[in-house]
Amino acid sequence: MEKAQKGYFGEYGGSYVPPELQKVMDQIEELFEKCKQDPEFNKELDYYLEQYAGRPNPLYFAEKLTKKLGGAKIYLKREELNHTGSHKINNAIGQALIAKHMGKTRIIAETGAGQHGVATATACALFGLDCVIYMGEHDTKRQALNVFRMEILGAEVKAINNGEGSMKEAIDEALLDLAENYDNTFYLIGSAVGPHPYPSIVKHFQSVISKEAKEQILKAEGRLPDAVLACVGGGSNAIGAFANFINDSSVRLIGVEPAGLGLDTGKHAAPLNAGEPGVIHGFRCYMVQDDQGNPMPTHSISAGLDYIGVGPEHSYLKDSGRGEYVSVTDQEALDAFYLLSRTEGIIPALESAHAVAHAAKIAPTMSPEQILIVNVSGRGDKDVQQIFDMTRK
Ligand SMILES: *Cc1c(COP(=O)(O)O)cnc(C)c1O
Repeated sequence: MEKAQKGYFGEYGGSYVPPELQKVMDQIEELFEKCKQDPEFNKELDYYLEQYAGRPNPLYFAEKLTKKLGGAKIYLKREELNHTGSHKINNAIGQALIAKHMGKTRIIAETGAGQHGVATATACALFGLDCVIYMGEHDTKRQALNVFRMEILGAEVKAINNGEGSMKEAIDEALLDLAENYDNTFYLIGSAVGPHPYPSIVKHFQSVISKEAKEQILKAEGRLPDAVLACVGGGSNAIGAFANFINDSSVRLIGVEPAGLGLDTGKHAAPLNAGEPGVIHGFRCYMVQDDQGNPMPTHSISAGLDYIGVGPEHSYLKDSGRGEYVSVTDQEALDAFYLLSRTEGIIPALESAHAVAHAAKIAPTMSPEQILIVNVSGRGDKDVQQIFDMTRK
C-alpha cells in the first residue's frame, strides 16, 4: 500500500491503493485537471447538464412548509427534478465525459442501493459506452427493480457472492477489474469518497448545486442563507450543496446523518456522529467501527445513506468546526417524508427526508427573517414500495 501526500483534507483522504492502481489514479487526476480548465469540455458538460439533465433546477420557496413550521423561511433546492430523479446524474455525466476524453470505451461502477448504478447506466447509454455494474448479490435481490432498470439501459449487472455479498465485496471486485482493464476502462465512483482524486472530482461535478443555489437565493432574497442543510451518505450531495458557501462564514453548513434506530443502539450509519477515523475503501475518513477498530455493520431506513464511511472533506469540516453534523432517526425521516409530501406535494427520497427532518427541528427556533436552504437530493418514487411494505404489512 502506498500513501500519496496529495489529496488530503487535514488528515483525511489520500490514496491507499496498491502501486499499479496508484498509476491509474495519477492518470485520472492529470486528465481531470486538464478537463477542468478546458473550455470545450466545460461547454459539453454544460450542454448535457442543461439539455439532458434539466438544469438549472429551481430553488423553490416552500411557503406552506414555512407557515406550518413557523420560523425561518425554507427554500428547497430541487435536485429531485433532475433526469433520473436525483443529484447523482450530475456526477455520472461529468465522469463519463472524462472517460470519453481519456479515450475509454468501458465504464465500471459499483452500487449498493442501485441509484448510482442507474445514473451510471444512463450516462453510458447517452455516450455509447459499455457499462458493467458490480453489486453485492444481497443488494441485487433487495433492489431487483433497479437491476432491471440498469439492464433496460443496456448495462450488464454482475452480482458478487463472495464474502457477505455486500457493497464491500462489490468495491473490491470493481478495483480488481480496474487493475486488469484500465487500458480501456474507467471506474465511475458515485459519491465523494474513494482514493484521491475521486473526492475532488465528485465535489467538482456536484458543486453546480451550490453554484445555482447561491445565484438563486441572491436573486430571490438579496442575501445569503443562514444555513444550508443536506443529508450525508458518502457526502456528495452535501459537499455539492456546501461548496460555494464554504468561504461564506455566516452560512452554517449542516450535514444530516442517518441515526437509524438511534446512535446508542449501534444500528445506524453515522460515522461523523458516532464513528472514529480509520482507513476504508482506499482513503482515510471517519468510519463506523467497534471498540477494537473493526468495521461495524450499518443500518438506515434509507439504502442510499447506508455507508460505513464518509467523504474526507466532511471529516475535515467536522474537525475544523466549519461543518455541523447532526443525525436524524429512521422514524424522524419517515415523518418528514410525509410532512413534505403533504404540505408541498413533493415526495422526497428517504435520504433527502433526513435533511427535511432536521430543517423541521430547527426552523421553529429561528426568526422569520432567517433563511434555510434544504437540498432535496432526490425524489421518493423509488421508496414508495418500501414504505408500502413497511406500513401495510
Ligand atoms: C445516493 C443518494 C444519497 C446519498 O449519497 P451522497 O453521496 O451522500 O449524496 C442521497 N440522496 C439521494 C436521493 C441518493 O440517491
